[in-house]
Amino acid sequence: MKELNATAKLFHGVTTIVVFFTFISANRIFALEPPQPGEMQQLHKSKQYQKRIMFAKQLGNDKVDQYLLKKSHNRAERKRLEIKGLNKQQIDSIAPIMAPPPAWQGLPTKGDVKIFALLIEFPDHIHSNSYDTIDAGLFGNGGNTNHFPNECLAAFYRRSSYNSLRINGNTLGWYQTSYNRSAVNQTTAGRENLIKEAIEYYDSIGHDFSQYDNNGDGKIDYFMVFWSGPHNGWANFWWGYKTGFSQTSYSIDGKQLGAYSWQWESNPVGTDFNASVAIHETGHALGLPDYYDYDNSVGPDGGVGCIDMMHSNWGDHNCFSKWLLDWVSPVYIFNGSQNISLDASGESQNCVLMWPPAVPNVFSEYFMIQNRHRVRNDTLLPADGMLIWHVDATLNSSGTNYEFNNSSTSHKLLKLIEADGNEDIENESCANEDDYFTTGATFGPCAKPFSKQYDGTSTKIKVSNFSAPGRTMSATFTHNAGCPFQWWFTAYKKTGMNKKDIKLVRKFRDEVLMKTAEGRTFKTRLYKNSDMALKVLLEHPYLFDRLAVIFKTNRNEINKAVHKEKAEIQNLDEITLFLDDFLKVSPDPLKCFLGEVKENMIRKEMQGETYLSFTLSERN
Ligand SMILES: [Zn+2]
Repeated sequence: MKELNATAKLFHGVTTIVVFFTFISANRIFALEPPQPGEMQQLHKSKQYQKRIMFAKQLGNDKVDQYLLKKSHNRAERKRLEIKGLNKQQIDSIAPIMAPPPAWQGLPTKGDVKIFALLIEFPDHIHSNSYDTIDAGLFGNGGNTNHFPNECLAAFYRRSSYNSLRINGNTLGWYQTSYNRSAVNQTTAGRENLIKEAIEYYDSIGHDFSQYDNNGDGKIDYFMVFWSGPHNGWANFWWGYKTGFSQTSYSIDGKQLGAYSWQWESNPVGTDFNASVAIHETGHALGLPDYYDYDNSVGPDGGVGCIDMMHSNWGDHNCFSKWLLDWVSPVYIFNGSQNISLDASGESQNCVLMWPPAVPNVFSEYFMIQNRHRVRNDTLLPADGMLIWHVDATLNSSGTNYEFNNSSTSHKLLKLIEADGNEDIENESCANEDDYFTTGATFGPCAKPFSKQYDGTSTKIKVSNFSAPGRTMSATFTHNAGCPFQWWFTAYKKTGMNKKDIKLVRKFRDEVLMKTAEGRTFKTRLYKNSDMALKVLLEHPYLFDRLAVIFKTNRNEINKAVHKEKAEIQNLDEITLFLDDFLKVSPDPLKCFLGEVKENMIRKEMQGETYLSFTLSERN
């Protein structure tokens, strides 16, 4: 009889333990065109790899333009202070509006912007696409619709910027050199001499280059060079990238040359002109970084899962980029909870920026959320729904740029949160439909994918109640979301349980305890009281020590019960004492529940009932 009583106690003892684990499972001056599929893997095997990486890093296309980043965060800081209740005067003194620095020489991100394209061919590499085709693909109204949404540079940017950036300009070409392409030195000077030669030709026939200094700073903001012939691989001379004209003494029509992009007109040679490279490189000219991973031997891999113009020329610019460019005004959520409807970002400036309330300033980690329905520039994306971006805007030690990039730092500047939480992108997969947040998905402190900071701290940010995908969809954005899971994780650690132990307790709960009528009756009350129970435990750490002992001495018996073997409780007195002490420090509702557990335990023991035997015979 003693053994039977003991097993009855084991049941209750384990019930007590299970109470605490119930929630375990309840739920550069240059910018670079990305490499071709498989090219990086090939390069890795070759001796050229380091040389190319060095060239890529020299270009600096992995970095955000520093003026853009400061200006966008200045806007955000002002907004944050406003929400905090500061008046305009106070805000002006803490975060005065940034005026463009005199040295600012980039391409304006808004307004009517005029640029030019130089088409250069060689006697041994005659062009594949006509002047008309390329001009239409850059500045026309139609372009080649087969390549939609990358049919036309100007059209893409009008859509992307909600008509706030209106690029127009002139195509100059084809200019043919008197020498073969092999005569061009594959150096900065070689490239610049070729550019000067073509520019001087057009100047000599009367073209006015002073019209391309949009902001009147004495520099031509940006121009594009298209050359004929094949490329010679990622981060080589004949590839697509953006850089700046190095010869500062050189001027044409009184203007120095600023940033320019350098790219093929046809790839593979003989195929249609596609504006996507020009769109990507112009993204760099506007100040955006590459989001793909240059070097998979350092830092996290996978970039943003291909799903961005600055990763693989796929889809629109994301909301973080658009925010840097001042094309969107996010709804800033610094506290509370609100339900917000977001229209498709392809045709609407809607997006949300959520800051953890505890952050000291805007140069920190935050989340941006947008509805990426398949319209306009997003037409070819893999699915519909919301995308959530994790930004780490921490500044480097000199304060000149972001500390992080998507290539070579310990984590990414911009990371796409995968709704399925699988981290496939980190394993170099492209994003798919499972990465979109739609009905049923949750992003928060309690469930995968977790809304934690890179150091593991919970941000307590939650996005939930996603509606079905659509041109308009809604979700609930919550700050300070509580999470019992966080507590339970703490509890595991405190009781010294490892993963195997937790699995065992879960198994006992699901396959033994919950299979019984009594277990099912218990279930609701157990769940209802577990939060409170854990709170009390955390406030009284000595109880954890006691629980740890109970679990340790009964681990083998629990294991036997799970394997349908006869089990005998160990350390009975300790369980009773533990329940008594636990009761003493519990608030009334929990006291009531624990009291019942204890009474039941005594009653069953007196009746000689064996829960565990009963349990074993009942299931099966
Ligand atoms: Zn690039």
